[in-house]
Amino acid sequence: MVSPGVQEDERQFEAALRPATLADFEGQPHVREQLSIAIEAAKHRGEAMDHVLLCGPPGLGKTTLAAIVAHELSAPLDQTAGPILQKKLDLTGILSNVRARQVFFIDEIHRLQPDVEEILYSALEDFRLDILIGAGPGARTHSITLPAFTAVGATTRQGLLSAPLRGRFGIVLRLDPYDEQTLGRIVERSARLLEIPITSDAAREIARRGRGTPRIANRLLRRVRDYAQVRASGHIDLPVAQVALDLLKVDRYGLDEVDQKIMHTIAEKYGGGPVGLSTIAASIDEQADTIEEVYEPYLMQLGFLDRTPRGRVATERAFDHFRIPRRHLYAGQNPLPFDN
Ligand code: ADP
Repeated sequence: MVSPGVQEDERQFEAALRPATLADFEGQPHVREQLSIAIEAAKHRGEAMDHVLLCGPPGLGKTTLAAIVAHELSAPLDQTAGPILQKKLDLTGILSNVRARQVFFIDEIHRLQPDVEEILYSALEDFRLDILIGAGPGARTHSITLPAFTAVGATTRQGLLSAPLRGRFGIVLRLDPYDEQTLGRIVERSARLLEIPITSDAAREIARRGRGTPRIANRLLRRVRDYAQVRASGHIDLPVAQVALDLLKVDRYGLDEVDQKIMHTIAEKYGGGPVGLSTIAASIDEQADTIEEVYEPYLMQLGFLDRTPRGRVATERAFDHFRIPRRHLYAGQNPLPFDN
């Protein structure tokens, strides 16, 4: 199984593959278009660009896009992450050094502490930093005016973001899993940069098992390269890719254990659904938000799962793929509970 998280030793590998310009960023056409308009407009006016919130599962390119925005604006980039900013002072320290029109990237913005988050409200809305001096009845607020800057927030869990914070972002963009063809182009580009000889159909095969996620596809490419170098004189063609991926035990669609559990719960335990999100979450001991925002987008893209007003439903295709016998329970007859 290949998980979507990042390990320290892979950062360098990822950095080498990161596209630097919007033109090099594959896929996500609506995201690219909106960013390109916002960047052009900001450059034209000579102002800071509007704040951007990027939402979507891990490994789809949020960090990459933040760096691209800075690059395209010819502006410096500072980055931090929700879990790093533990105290108000951590954030005020960074913000008091912010430069005019720079890009300030906050990864995992849904994990900010509430009191740290509050400081962001006025910083994003009015470019003002309110600092409380002293304590108790004698405490007073000192306001500092900040130069206009662009915040880029990234979150895998949009549902956990408070409404006031979300409302501070003028541009909210959702990244979806990549289709196989686009991901195939990303694999070919990575192979070119790493000087790995690969055929197009082999790149497509890696893409097919890359879970719609560039980070995962790039990691698979690296593992397949190892195999090819030891067993196949370094060249990756379709049979080499297939054998290497099978050895890695990567499912035909790159599904991991949680994906499998979700689908088995809906299709097997609840006869295909409809079944409520919180029921699925309780069954597999996973958070409902994580299922909805991290796992479901890819399962829906594969056509295994549908969201209906009465709950989640497994498709015919899912029954076939997971080889689950049909129990012929239809929506109206399903005696099982559903909650949304
Ligand atoms: P996130 O911040 O959403 O977790 P990253 O921006 O760190 O994802 O991207 C993970 C890896 O995938 C990076 O190495 C990046 O180069 C690659 N990547 C992501 N999106 C694209 C894309 N559209 N085109 C090419 N490479 C991409």
